[in-house]
Amino acid sequence: MSAGPLLDQSRARALLERALASRELPPAYLFIGPHGVGKEEAALALARALNCTGGTAQPGSDLFVEAGSEATESCPPTSGEVVLGGCAICSACTRLERYRHPDVLVRMPLPRPRPPKEGEPADPTEALAFKADNPYRDPEITSGGLSIGIADIREIVRQLAYAPVEGGKRVVILCQSERMTEEAQNALLKSLEEPPPHTLFVLTTHRPNALLPTVRSRCRVVGFGPLPSDVIVSYLQERGIASGDEMNVAILARGSLKRAISIAEGGVPGREEALQLLSWAVDGQRREALAWAAGYTFKSAGGMRTEARNTLEELLSLMRDVAVIQSGDEPSLLNPDRADLLQRVGRHAPDGAGLGALMAAAEACGEVDSNINLALIYATLFEALTPLGG
Ligand SMILES: [Zn+2]
Repeated sequence: MSAGPLLDQSRARALLERALASRELPPAYLFIGPHGVGKEEAALALARALNCTGGTAQPGSDLFVEAGSEATESCPPTSGEVVLGGCAICSACTRLERYRHPDVLVRMPLPRPRPPKEGEPADPTEALAFKADNPYRDPEITSGGLSIGIADIREIVRQLAYAPVEGGKRVVILCQSERMTEEAQNALLKSLEEPPPHTLFVLTTHRPNALLPTVRSRCRVVGFGPLPSDVIVSYLQERGIASGDEMNVAILARGSLKRAISIAEGGVPGREEALQLLSWAVDGQRREALAWAAGYTFKSAGGMRTEARNTLEELLSLMRDVAVIQSGDEPSLLNPDRADLLQRVGRHAPDGAGLGALMAAAEACGEVDSNINLALIYATLFEALTPLGG
């Protein structure tokens, strides 16, 4: 099986390879980019590079810039070359592929433990096993708010007090780090400020602004962009993820493998709901829309917010297309399979209605992870969409 799409994040890859080659790794990286474009894969590739025992690399060779010292002086050259991704076959690399290396700690947002275990770190075992089998899929989590909590970070900090078990480098990977609670971010700060020896932090996020500025400023940023459509097509084909129309899937996926897989396997999450809301707005079916929104009054748990985020992001992309059509540009649509509908909406709506709806959808997307009731978010958004009906 070929390597994943990290190969096609050429800028990020070059940055990381340069850092490894020059033995100048910072204490912490922040990988920023959309969902499903290879940020976690890159974090794992770094972890493999630093722990691989199979190639010419020397585990434990000093790859880190020591605070306040010249890198070239503090890091004597080692004989081996350190390769991003490691050898992929040694014991360390294969265990890492399964998230089973004792020196590589991976955490992602999980539901909080319920009493009597409240306040204890969430157990990531099941989620990591799922991730290992499905690197570009999300596990179904239907209950509870999803976060990386203070207990999780404290547990990691506790482990940092010990030397790495296997003598390589400890790598702490925090996936979707924007879902760290503020307390958790504050608990992490000290470790970022005074990183323990032999430790690298990698935080991934698609919403860097949700992180505290103090956390962001202590990380070296690496940007990840959307993947080219042909990369997505060949990934789907190589893995037998059939859709019959890979190219259309790749266009709808907007550069995200995670999204492409969802689409190929049964539709875009949230899209039907978004189209339904749009059609209610265009047809003036206020009563139906508000009754639907009211159904979310008591449904604001994590799984529901994930669903709502999908719906709102789909609506945002539909409104972007309507706004583009109204602006009169020769449109290159994000939703080419719905071009007829979107052009009809764009042409009939009053000038500027598309832009207004786009802004309202963007605002709703920003609110979905807050405490605001989902019913209220949907109802407010619906009112802002109604001008599309003329
Ligand atoms: Zn290896």
